[in-house]
Amino acid sequence: TGIVVAVDGTSGSGKSSTCRGVASRLGLRYLDTGAMYRAMTWWMLEHGVDVHDAEAVAARCAEPVIDSGTDPSGPTIHVDGYDVGVAIRTEQVTGSVSPVSTVPAVRTRLVELQRAEIATAAEGRGIVVEGRDIGSVVAPDAPVKLYLTADPAARAARRAAEEGGSDVAAVEKSLRGRDEIDSGRAVSPLTMVEGAVHLDTTAYTLEEVVDLVVGLVEA
Ligand code: C5P
Repeated sequence: TGIVVAVDGTSGSGKSSTCRGVASRLGLRYLDTGAMYRAMTWWMLEHGVDVHDAEAVAARCAEPVIDSGTDPSGPTIHVDGYDVGVAIRTEQVTGSVSPVSTVPAVRTRLVELQRAEIATAAEGRGIVVEGRDIGSVVAPDAPVKLYLTADPAARAARRAAEEGGSDVAAVEKSLRGRDEIDSGRAVSPLTMVEGAVHLDTTAYTLEEVVDLVVGLVEA
């Protein structure tokens, strides 16, 4: 059976680029669970659901059909057949994803979809899965677990550049706010799990981090 690499960490720690790089190098699939929470959030906004009304979100969260394409060289995400790869990265979605992802029914549903994707990939060579609760909740039995962090200012600079020159201070504030919610909530908090390798990526290039992780997986 294939290998499962569980990668958790803060926003902007270089998780996505690292995970895609590692999956490409090792011929594994790649699953971005953050994109699934974003897709759920996009659907709620699109359907006029108040994202701060947990009951309303819970009541409708079984409806969207969420489909993740797991090719690391071109991951995709569709909701009800629409390609939402670009739409889920807007400020509006980014600003609403934390409240949506704290709703237990949302997490139960998405974790189920994620486990199905992992099971399929495990029939092949395996998969790299990134998120906040992969090593703790989604795939606690994963043989390789990573926890990626980076200095907040470095993270903000990186994310701002990714977004095509957004204001660094504003990005840093938004990242810190999301991390606070992500680590402060009762369900699936962002925590270091037993056995995870903690990697602070601040001082390394993407290539160096990918090399490090590939080494860990192959060890
Ligand atoms: O990784 P990304 O920044 O795209 O994730 C967006 C948001 O989705 C996070 O801030 C977090 O609130 C939520 N998320 C989550 N659990 C995951 C992945 C993401 O709650 N496994």
